[in-house]
Amino acid sequence: MPSFLSGVERDPLDTDFIRMSFRSFVQRGILIIMVVNPLHAILLWLNHSDWWPFSLIALFVQLPFYPLCAQHRSFAVFLPSVLMLFATVLVYILLFSKHFGSSAGFHYLIMSLIPLVIFAGRIGLKLKVFICLMMAIGMFMVELELRGVATSSVSVEALKQLRVLNLLICFITLSMLTFTHFVTVSRIQSKLQFLAAYDPLTQLVNRRRMGQLAEQEILQSRRQQYPLSVILADVDNFKMINDRHGHPVGDAALQHISELISTIARDTDSCCRWGGEEFLVLLPHTTLQGAMQVAERIREDVAATPLHAHELELEMQLTLGVAMLMPNEELAELIMRADTALYEGKRASRNCVVISDPQPS
Ligand code: GH3
Ligand code: MG
Ligand code: MG
Repeated sequence: MPSFLSGVERDPLDTDFIRMSFRSFVQRGILIIMVVNPLHAILLWLNHSDWWPFSLIALFVQLPFYPLCAQHRSFAVFLPSVLMLFATVLVYILLFSKHFGSSAGFHYLIMSLIPLVIFAGRIGLKLKVFICLMMAIGMFMVELELRGVATSSVSVEALKQLRVLNLLICFITLSMLTFTHFVTVSRIQSKLQFLAAYDPLTQLVNRRRMGQLAEQEILQSRRQQYPLSVILADVDNFKMINDRHGHPVGDAALQHISELISTIARDTDSCCRWGGEEFLVLLPHTTLQGAMQVAERIREDVAATPLHAHELELEMQLTLGVAMLMPNEELAELIMRADTALYEGKRASRNCVVISDPQPS
């Protein structure tokens, strides 16, 4: 079975998002037809053409495809429906073009189908290009073959009006579909950016984003010559909390500590979930002494604010390592010093703040 029918082989250009977009484009297309066909019928009727009922007949033929092309429909229903819909639209365009000639501009409507072809997930890139090429050739063939073929049933003025209407329909359809796509992509983009930068449990920035923020901050602090410090905090005996009370309580504990740290940090500081039960705070414009005071406040607040969750009162403690950026020091070295200080604290007594002694550069 070809892959576009089985849907087994997925390539990066055939994602669930593209498939959803395609179905939504098809449905929007049918809604546009619901407006376009009556407009054609009205214009033809006003110009005394006998063809106005055909526009309405086409409308009633195409309308039932709306529910058949919905997101929830199985592919077995969707595929024949969409092919039939495409066929009816093409027959409509060709019949009307043949009758009214190219000057009525019905063949321009072929251009409105381009987004549908581009957004069809299951067909490959080559097939998309091929179909678009065929559509372009078809449109130009109609233009050349049917140039000057005007039936006597409508006046030249009516043909002009039809051409303007058809061009307008093309313009509106392409704009609408492009705009809808722009809005969807923008929303997804900002959601992805959030997911790539934040930890889902604590809503703090994640390690990846913190790396970027810290690198930027180091550059700034060097250029503008202000002090920059970091605090690395680790929950004491956290494994025991998980073991005794279960993972959900452990998760709640991490959220609780994150909130406390975020409350104490200034707006200009960045708080990050550095690892499992480790937190990193980046403090621009802060000396070692200032960072130590912040770390001490965090330690005291966490120790003095037990978590009330799952009918429990859970006391927790942190050990914190503090380091200030030295001239020519890299981010990794700075964090390594904070980490060494933290582990000194772990070895000593836990529930304490340890400063990393700056080495002479
Ligand atoms: P220490 O005082 O020496 O830091 O001891 P510790 O028990 O805190 O350190 P250890 O590294 O042995 O244990 C860390 C634990 O954190 C183990 C891991 O299961 C848990 N952990 C890591 N990430 C999560 C998480 O997202 N949720 C929960 N509930 N637990 C986590
Ligand atoms: Mg740890
Ligand atoms: Mg720990």
